[in-house]
Amino acid sequence: MNLPEQTCPICGGPAEPSIRFLHWVCFECCRKAVDENGRPLGFGNESFSGGFVAWYKDTNETRDSHICYINGIKCWAGEAHMGGIAIHIYDQIRN
Ligand SMILES: [Zn+2]
Repeated sequence: MNLPEQTCPICGGPAEPSIRFLHWVCFECCRKAVDENGRPLGFGNESFSGGFVAWYKDTNETRDSHICYINGIKCWAGEAHMGGIAIHIYDQIRN
């Protein structure tokens, strides 16, 4: 199955093609996510069946928020369909 090429809204580089997420942030940029104070954040699924969890990479402390910042742009991280994590620019989320 061939999906149309997608570009990352943050860096303009290639993003993983997805039917469901047309404007999601590429994996490279996902790794650069920080909180409002610049602390690095990690995201993952709570379990194999899904769920969303965010944590601080420096202390492994969990963070109770979907908000993150990439290159100074406010973003929203959430659970992707069928597991995995999808990050979008906050202002581009329409629902
Ligand atoms: Zn990117």
